[in-house]
Amino acid sequence: MKKLTPIKAIRKHCLECSSGIPSEVKNCIITDCPLYPFRLGKNPNRKSIGDKNVAVRRINSKIVS
Ligand code: SF4
Repeated sequence: MKKLTPIKAIRKHCLECSSGIPSEVKNCIITDCPLYPFRLGKNPNRKSIGDKNVAVRRINSKIVS
């Protein structure tokens, strides 16, 4: 059995909540649901991790200051 990450488990839960229809998850109107920000299978708090441009900007800002 494949191990689920917490974010993938949330995505799976949201699909079950929306009768298995991905577009219904995307268009969910329950914005006060605690899972709402994570419903698309991504953690919005980690948006810039892995983005080379953001990493380069961080390094450059440390060099300048
Ligand atoms: S965010 Fe909440 S209400 Fe919306 S699909 Fe996910 S579990 Fe259901």
